[in-house]
Amino acid sequence: MNNFFKKVKIFFEDIILDIYNKLFSSKYVVKGKCKKCGKCCRNILFSTEEGYVKSKELFNKLRKKYPYYNNYRISGVIKDKDDVQNGALTFECKFISKKNRCLIYPFRPSFCRKYPEIFPEFIYNGLKALDGCGFYFDVNKKFSEYLKDE
Ligand code: SF4
Ligand code: SF4
Repeated sequence: MNNFFKKVKIFFEDIILDIYNKLFSSKYVVKGKCKKCGKCCRNILFSTEEGYVKSKELFNKLRKKYPYYNNYRISGVIKDKDDVQNGALTFECKFISKKNRCLIYPFRPSFCRKYPEIFPEFIYNGLKALDGCGFYFDVNKKFSEYLKDE
């Protein structure tokens, strides 16, 4: 087989492998149930191209540029040297009620609708949901189950 056909063969083998992996290999999945504790509405992280928002100055700049950010107030800061989010400010949404209800539920932003979504950072961080959250991350098929199939 000449080089050209070898390259074409490898190209199609890669595509087939990619499709196979997408269909049959393990995927990260969200499991569990919301406990309606409101923690996720009080511990929001924002990031820009430079990374997480870590200073009040940057947050104020964002608020000036995008009034949308005025819907949030600083609620704390992540202090954990082993966490890639160390130093990131956390934000509380102004629409969370004292009883942990969303006051704009039908109109809430898309990131609230999708929460908890699986981001590469979650995987990088060992798939940790917020402490106390009723959701958790898992794989749809564990390594031990692959061994059983053999
Ligand atoms: S932190 Fe988790 S359990 Fe609590 S309200 Fe948010 S999604 Fe629900
Ligand atoms: S809009 Fe509603 S669901 Fe979204 S963070 Fe605010 S209170 Fe929570």
